[in-house]
Amino acid sequence: MTIPAPRTATHDAAVQELAATAAALDAADPLAAHTSAFVRDGDVVSYLDGNSLGRPLAALEERFARFIGHDWGNRLIRGWDEGWMRRPFDLGDRIGALVGAAAGQAFVGDSTTVLLYKLVRAAVDAQAGSGRTEIVIDDDSFPTDRFVAEGVAAERGLTLRWIEVDRAGGVSLEQVEAVVGERTALVLLSHVAYRSGHVADVEGITRAAHDAGALVLWDLCHSAGVIPTQLDAWGVDLAAGCTYKYLNGGPGSPAFAYVRHDLQARLAQPIQGWMGAADVFAMAAAFEPAPDLRRFVSGTPPVLATVALEAMVELLEQVGVDAVREKSVALTGFAEEALALQVLPLGARLASPSAGRERGSHLTVTHPAFREVTERLWARGVIPDFRGPDGIRVGLSPLSTTFTEVEIGVAAIGQELRRAIR
Ligand SMILES: *Cc1c(COP(=O)(O)O)cnc(C)c1O
Repeated sequence: MTIPAPRTATHDAAVQELAATAAALDAADPLAAHTSAFVRDGDVVSYLDGNSLGRPLAALEERFARFIGHDWGNRLIRGWDEGWMRRPFDLGDRIGALVGAAAGQAFVGDSTTVLLYKLVRAAVDAQAGSGRTEIVIDDDSFPTDRFVAEGVAAERGLTLRWIEVDRAGGVSLEQVEAVVGERTALVLLSHVAYRSGHVADVEGITRAAHDAGALVLWDLCHSAGVIPTQLDAWGVDLAAGCTYKYLNGGPGSPAFAYVRHDLQARLAQPIQGWMGAADVFAMAAAFEPAPDLRRFVSGTPPVLATVALEAMVELLEQVGVDAVREKSVALTGFAEEALALQVLPLGARLASPSAGRERGSHLTVTHPAFREVTERLWARGVIPDFRGPDGIRVGLSPLSTTFTEVEIGVAAIGQELRRAIR
């Protein structure tokens, strides 16, 4: 049982000062105007889960109306020739530009899980018979990444080489260097750890994998749109990421994948379908893959599911990911300060890197009472998420989150934790 820290006059003054600091930071925030571009429903007083599902842009009502009334309702089947066939690649190029990829290397379609499956299979199959029979992955990777790797390993008779990572940190270059070698086919890791927020050294690890003769696949789910990324310059082979987190594409919006230009013709993905064929409308007897990125597409692109995504990509192009990152670092720094004052003294622990540049746009704090605390928070319109066994994840989405929202949310976490342990 943890004894709550005594509340003193100086403590109360520091808490009050925090609210004033939040207001001052909002007033000085160069991106503040964008926070009102998102739908902000009255019953939510602090949304701390934009890293799981970004808020919708308010302009979407009009965009969807136009899509239904004009693009779909009026253009009908002609829409395919007028842009929909190109849409996965046009949007892919634009998302690619946000993550440092030149055009022609990224596309949108399928879920992250399915794209990871396609890319993992393509990467290991390209090395069949070379003695490279291992996939390197860390043991705290997001479940779907581990499950996909396990599934492919079972299908192809491969072995998983697990890197054990600190739950409050993440995979290091040294750990990767210690396990890659002549048996490694693929290194599959996340740019930002979904639990701790730890930012991996993508460039260094990619180089280490290449030095060992292996390919590397980066999961960008928690970094796309919020951390400056240089896929081309860093020599990355393959990448995939979500669009419903910091790209605000909406629940279940399709994921994107990146396949480096010179690898495209060498890799074959396992779900071959008509949309990936060299000549889509040839209605040919046999499958002939497209020579380029299109071979990684399987079926009809999810056009309707990209309407919200496109609007957010436009906003990010306008603001720039560097500016988003600056606010993200400021937000997580402020959240850490508020947690240190109001939550950590109650026996909770920070389970994220403490330096702003070493973490993504979320922080995790742990306490055995947090499952119960999260339920109470949701009931009062404070929405972080809970990640078992004992973590509250505080996700800060720079274009929609205000410092005041962080202050309100962290204060509520402190109040509910105090109640729970009393
Ligand atoms: C959110 C997330 C996913 C989600 O995969 P889906 O197929 O979109 O459900 C995968 N990997 C990581 C690292 C994530 O954070």
